[in-house]
Amino acid sequence: MQFIDLKTQYKQLQEKIDKNIKKVLDHSQFIMGAEVKILEEKLAEYIEVKHCITVSSGTDALLAALMALNIKKGDQVITTPFSFIATAESIILTGAEPVFTDINPLTYNIEPNLIEKAITSETKALMPVSLYGQCADMDAINNIAAKYNIPIIEDAAQSFGAEYKNKKSCGLTLIGCTSFFPSKPLGCYGDGGACFTNDDTIAKKLKEIRDHGQNGRYNHIRIGINGRLDTLQAAILLAKLETFDTEVKAREQIGARYTRLLNNIKAITAPHIQPHNKSVYAQYTIQIDNRDSFAEKLKQKNIPTAVHYPIPLNMQPAIDQTNKKFPIAETVAKRVISLPMHPFLSKKEQDIIVNAIIEAIS
Ligand SMILES: *Cc1c(COP(=O)(O)O)cnc(C)c1O
Repeated sequence: MQFIDLKTQYKQLQEKIDKNIKKVLDHSQFIMGAEVKILEEKLAEYIEVKHCITVSSGTDALLAALMALNIKKGDQVITTPFSFIATAESIILTGAEPVFTDINPLTYNIEPNLIEKAITSETKALMPVSLYGQCADMDAINNIAAKYNIPIIEDAAQSFGAEYKNKKSCGLTLIGCTSFFPSKPLGCYGDGGACFTNDDTIAKKLKEIRDHGQNGRYNHIRIGINGRLDTLQAAILLAKLETFDTEVKAREQIGARYTRLLNNIKAITAPHIQPHNKSVYAQYTIQIDNRDSFAEKLKQKNIPTAVHYPIPLNMQPAIDQTNKKFPIAETVAKRVISLPMHPFLSKKEQDIIVNAIIEAIS
């Protein structure tokens, strides 16, 4: 059994993907070929925002977004301690300081009520993460941001395709950033990412930043990065985007079925999706005591699991804000475990997983 099954997806889309790859090989415009622009138009349309700027990874999407807001040394960016390293790493790369606030115990996303207390005159951006494919509480966060006039970057690396109050993730704040890493809900065959915005000025800046700060060939008006999306990856994403909504529906059904099957098991905390949210279940993550022995028991039955994430960001050696305490993030980090989750997980496989879980805890 696979944790994420990319091969079945490829088999289903092989003709289209192979054809699109071949086209790029034939025209050989490997950097900023026509497919990149076409993809950006399609993605912007999908998210219902004015601009999509594709980039070379989700991490670079976050970095470019922070650079477009002129975040620099001496600035603070408020974010969650319970995420992948890239969230805080991108902030630190600009020279700014990540200021963590604790998470909501039900959704695992940043707790809006704690943000306001963390705001200082140095706070120059908020970076909520839409973890596991469920959007953070954006209305509450947007209200705080509006009150203090602070821009928001959504780290939507795990939530492309998700919805918050019938609006698509990536289009909920000033800039939305996503990742096309192969295992993300919409993945390419290497690294890739994108920024989304309705703001014309920021869109122009993002385009310059991803291409060494150029506004014309060899005319560098700012310091940027080598952050373009490969044409080959754009061509692969164009093929995958066509059936993406079917995969989102399958993810939703599989996630909901997991929850139906696990909800009445006392030892397990199933994901809590808020009624106004539509999760894409980038991960299907439960909480359980004695996680490591639980994982071992599933492994013996050939069921792979993963932990997202075992160490809160403030406790990572490279960040080292261990003097600060985030009790909910710390507790959750010890208890979370993700189950196999992808659009091609069959009911039969799911039943095998659930039965193995029941056996493991009894
Ligand atoms: C995957 C991920 C990123 C980084 O994306 P890459 O494409 O791997 O650089 C950032 N934030 C979160 C929450 C992620 O899950």
